[in-house]
Amino acid sequence: MSTEQLIHTRSTALFVPQLVYFEPDAMLYPKGKRILEWAQSQDLPIHMTTSHNRITNLPGETDLEKYRISKRTLVVGIRKTLKFDTSKPSAEYAIPIATGCMGHCHYCYLQTTLGNKPYVRAYVNTDDILKSAKDYIEERAPEITRFEAACTSDPVGLEHITGSLKEYIEFMGKEPLGRLRFVTKYHHVDPLLDANHNKHTRFRFSVNSDYVIKNFEPGTSRFHERIEAAGKVARAGYPLGFIIAPIIWYEGWEQGYEELIVKLHDTLPKEALEDLTFELIQHRFTKTAKNIIERRYPKSKLEMDEAKRKYKWGRYGRGKYVYPDEQAAALREFITEHIFDKFPAAKIEYFT
Ligand code: SF4
Repeated sequence: MSTEQLIHTRSTALFVPQLVYFEPDAMLYPKGKRILEWAQSQDLPIHMTTSHNRITNLPGETDLEKYRISKRTLVVGIRKTLKFDTSKPSAEYAIPIATGCMGHCHYCYLQTTLGNKPYVRAYVNTDDILKSAKDYIEERAPEITRFEAACTSDPVGLEHITGSLKEYIEFMGKEPLGRLRFVTKYHHVDPLLDANHNKHTRFRFSVNSDYVIKNFEPGTSRFHERIEAAGKVARAGYPLGFIIAPIIWYEGWEQGYEELIVKLHDTLPKEALEDLTFELIQHRFTKTAKNIIERRYPKSKLEMDEAKRKYKWGRYGRGKYVYPDEQAAALREFITEHIFDKFPAAKIEYFT
């Protein structure tokens, strides 16, 4: 068997943490109990913690080792803040479900936003969270309210442990004015296929050129697995979307992104084409992110040369480095044209 064939037959495994922490009160919730039983059935080391925001003494000799172990640590707790952040441009609000991710995408903005708490936190009080979502929906009625569930995590990658995403999908399925959306790089979609979604959830996959996936997305499902999963999701009647992010300028990017769009077109079933959206996000970084990424992935080929970028001022004076206008326009035009060529009925929601 060739290496290529081997890569295509080996399936990305479900996430199993190395360590599990519980807030004592989390075990009073049915979801907390279920996760505890699951962790015991897997023979995982279980510890207690007073707060899911304060895990200290994680094992590891060096900072890098500690970071790697944190990414494989699951902390089960109660979400106390039930006030949702806004989530432009993809939705009105970010709905909390989990914080942290086991993936190792070099460019991931969680590197910065989670700082020194990169461990994976799962919340057990989903009823409280959904009650809060209902209040937000009522507040905006008769407008539709969209909730993004992947702002701080990749919820599909945790679904076999928490089951939360299915609850959110079914909740929104019953809400005439509520919509859910999330994005994933994992292909473990089977538990979600029979959910009563009522087409109120847009299931999106993050995709990229081969070069980007191979070089910058370790620890996530491979492209062919994501596409296969996208086909299943479309056949289950979900509205489907793709986020091409981050769009990276590298030697040969035109060929890479053209191939991506052709492969999407050639592998997707016709059901997927009925209600398809694309979101396009160019690569950006902050100075802080650059420092962290260089420490955590010292061999990364991710280009972060400030001299080659344009500085874009942001809120609270915190800006980021994006591609200069001419490059951004070239990326946008090229990818947009190819999408419209292959998917004339698709909607491109934004390029940012
Ligand atoms: Fe970050 Fe998404 Fe990669 Fe997880 S899968 S590390 S959330 S970019």
